[in-house]
Order: sequence, then C-alpha cells, then structure tokens
Amino acid sequence: MADPVFTMKGVTKVYDTGGAKVHALAGVDLELPGGELAVLLGPSGSGKSTLLNILGGLDHVTDGRVWFRDLELTAMRDRELTRYRRDHVGFIFQFYNLVPSLTARENVQLVTDVARDPMPAAEALDSKTGIQVLEALHQINRDFGTATVVITHNADIQKIAHRVIFFQDGRISRIQENTERLAPADISW
Ligand code: ADP
Ligand code: MG
Repeated sequence: MADPVFTMKGVTKVYDTGGAKVHALAGVDLELPGGELAVLLGPSGSGKSTLLNILGGLDHVTDGRVWFRDLELTAMRDRELTRYRRDHVGFIFQFYNLVPSLTARENVQLVTDVARDPMPAAEALDSKTGIQVLEALHQINRDFGTATVVITHNADIQKIAHRVIFFQDGRISRIQENTERLAPADISW
C-alpha cells in the first residue's frame, strides 16, 4: 500500500452527556490510501459519522492518534484544525443532515463558507441527484488521487468502492476489498 493519506491508531471516542457514557468509537485502527474510495457501512449508531467527523477535523478523539499524511490531527489546536479543513478537506452533506432552519441554498453556503476555494452555491445545487454527486466524487477521486470516504444507507453504493469498511458498536468488524467495481451510473436507486 502506498503511503496512507489517513492513519488512525487506537482511536476511541467517548461522549459523556452527564449520564451514561457512550463509546462511539471503541478502538479503531485504519489506514486510507490516496486514490481510494472507501464506503462505510453499519447500523445507525455504530460510529460512522463520528469517524468521519474526526478525519475531517470537526471533532476530537478521546484517545488514540490520527494523522493526515505527516500532520498529526490529534496534536492540533482548533485554529490549526480550521486551517487543515480549509486546505485539505472537502465535505458533501446529504440535505437531510443539514440545518433544518436554513434553506437549501443557505445550507450549501454554510458548507462552502468553510472552504478556501468554494464552488458557488448555485453550482452545487445543480447536482440534483445522488448519481451526479457520486459521479463527481468518483471523478475527483480518480483524477486527483484523493482519499474519499462515503457514508451511505444505500447498500448498493458499496459496489463503487475499492474497499467497504463495516462498523459495529464503534469498531471495524470487517473490511471487504472489491475486485470489481461498478460505475456510479450503473447503481440502482
Ligand atoms: P452512525 O453515524 O454510525 O449512525 P454516530 O457516529 O453518529 O453513528 O454515533 C455513534 C454513537 O455516538 C451513537 O450511540 C450516538 O448516539 C452517539 N453520539 C454521536 N454524537 C453524539 C453527541 N454529540 N453526543 C452524545 N452522543 C453522541
Ligand atoms: Mg451517522
């Protein structure tokens, strides 16, 4: 495997909401190489969003270490994480995950506001279907060699991945390598 873009070692995340502690991540080791499109699958509450938030510099680990190339995210203060997000991270949120009190355009604006070279909000809104979003991700992944991670509830989308990473109770339960991949246009919705 080429030098990983992301490396996670012994990552745990505990949410302490004042009552019971929730172990959202319970010891995750993972390497994500450049050029890879990984799909995260697993039941609701298994830790997928928590992992993505940590990789994206939106949240802190409780324990363990995380690197983006040779930058250690777990050693960064918030100001450095902000710069890391601007320079190196792209997010695409599904609309139903966005702020409900804002319009669709305001929600897209919110996402593009955190990027250094944002697309105009109207351009992002033109991509109406999930297939178009996936095709764009697919193309960026192929042309720029990004490490791309997709969370989905559509199990068919795993067919476009190089690797499918299954989550269960805050842990990686299984990793599946796809020897054959589908193009986004060939996925059924
Ligand atoms: P998934 O994305 O796989 O549905 P999450 O990463 O969102 O899983 O959640 C993992 C666990 O952490 C769940 O039990 C969830 O309720 C809990 N959790 C997530 N975010 C928070 C938070 N901000 N405060 C408290 N608990 C949280
Ligand atoms: Mg989630």
